[in-house]
Amino acid sequence: MLDKTVTDWQSYANQLNIEGRAFINGRYVDALSGQTRPTINPANGRELAEVALCGPEDADLAVTGARAAFESGEWSRMAPMDRKMVLVRWTELIEKHADELALLETIDVGKPISDTTNVDVPATIRTIRWSGEAIDKVYDEIPPTPADTLALIQRLPLGVVAAIVPWNFPLSTTAWKLAPSLATGNSVILKPASNTPLSALFIAGLASEAGLPDGVLQVLPGPGGSLGKHIAMHMDIDGLTFTGSTAVGKKLMEYSGQSNLKRTFLELGGKSPNIVFADASLEKAAAMAAAAVFYNGGQTCTAGTRLIVEEKIMDEFLEMVTENATDWMPGNPLDPTTPMGPMIDAGQCDTVAEYMDIGRNEGAEVLFGGNQVLQETGGYYHEPSIFTGVNNAMRIAQEEIFGPIMSVLSFKTAEEAVQIANDSIYGLAGAVWSNNINTAHKVAEAVRVGTMGINNYFGGDITVPFGGFKQSGNGRDKSIHAFHDYTELKTTWIEFM
Ligand code: NAP
Repeated sequence: MLDKTVTDWQSYANQLNIEGRAFINGRYVDALSGQTRPTINPANGRELAEVALCGPEDADLAVTGARAAFESGEWSRMAPMDRKMVLVRWTELIEKHADELALLETIDVGKPISDTTNVDVPATIRTIRWSGEAIDKVYDEIPPTPADTLALIQRLPLGVVAAIVPWNFPLSTTAWKLAPSLATGNSVILKPASNTPLSALFIAGLASEAGLPDGVLQVLPGPGGSLGKHIAMHMDIDGLTFTGSTAVGKKLMEYSGQSNLKRTFLELGGKSPNIVFADASLEKAAAMAAAAVFYNGGQTCTAGTRLIVEEKIMDEFLEMVTENATDWMPGNPLDPTTPMGPMIDAGQCDTVAEYMDIGRNEGAEVLFGGNQVLQETGGYYHEPSIFTGVNNAMRIAQEEIFGPIMSVLSFKTAEEAVQIANDSIYGLAGAVWSNNINTAHKVAEAVRVGTMGINNYFGGDITVPFGGFKQSGNGRDKSIHAFHDYTELKTTWIEFM
């Protein structure tokens, strides 16, 4: 894969035959209205393909098909070991098309090709394969009831599940939703983000080829405000799993309450603290402090955007972080040496620029970066940027910017570091760096987030759950725990005569 040059990838991209139709009942189809919307390459602002613009009528058709598929039992009552085989076959097909899929994701999202080939596509394969292979090894329960009784506690699929996902990791968040929901026997309706529908549409066809029965997976591209809302309010959808912003997550809870109380699980935003003590291995901490924010252009829910540094090493440490920031200058995502691509669209790039102004007006100082760049490409690029002199009440310390902006704060004691870390509406992730196990563990325990790293950032794999505390959400992706979001507990109580 990575022996290809930027020219190889570009000519491969020119030859791609891009599928932009919806995937309903086992076939690629146009939206019933016939309407389409272009999807844009954020690296140059040019149209990649026309994509079906689905509306409520397409959603109703997809729900009817998904319900019929569920009721037929062809998938929902298939032996788990057979479902496993279909999911494993699906990953084999994805693997076979890995280069094409990585390329699609790069041109649709602007992610560097080195990331899509090394991270997004392999993670997608691992996630689906792991859930498939796990599903026939999960046992139900028989509780210790009195003699002459027997109770069965079973986990049954919810039925028809909707998944609504964002644009920042379209492929891997799609896999985090589809793998456990399909493995547990549900029928699933996926709405990708309007900006990034291509990879989900691509893998839907491969699922069918792998043997997933028609109607079990429906993929509907279309706008969140109309199609997404209609799905979230639908009376015949039993569960809703969402990754996206906290603002939209709150609406989805309301839609659930206004409709049929569908089980609603949310993976939302973050403003994650990255705490560095003076006794840490500073070189590694500095490299990861930069990566924690600038990876994926800061468009990462877990980005360590609040760097909280022990005061006595501030100057020395900032020098090291700044040096690392120079490694993250953005460039053409099709170049295998590019570390960071463009923002997803012009609006997001302008939001980042606005937050630079907000930070300056709040009195913070720009230590590094601060500008939009490469405008001659037609793409939406912003430099990696660092603010110092930040206090935690500032908007740049409280609000999720979703761009390559680091806010640096200082602390004197461990208690103060924890207090700053927890002074946030979010609780998604964080990290602490210290070579004193007592300090590191006490701080890690006290910070209220779903995932905390000690001497690492972005740590974790498919075996561990991922999700947030507080307004970062209530669901858990990955691991066996993800199966719980897609199943209902059922008790059967038997009395013997
Ligand atoms: P977003 O604006 O909340 O959109 C997410 C999805 O919801 C998109 O598919 C969107 O459709 C849809 N949507 C928008 N309004 C809707 C409505 N009223 N009803 C139903 N669906 C609606 O988020 P984003 O800007 O795409 O992604 C960035 C956010 O995702 C950040 O806050 C980030 O932290 C969060 N995120 C969280 C995690 C996690 O695991 N915790 C992971 C990744 C990202 P359109 O595309 O058509 O607007």
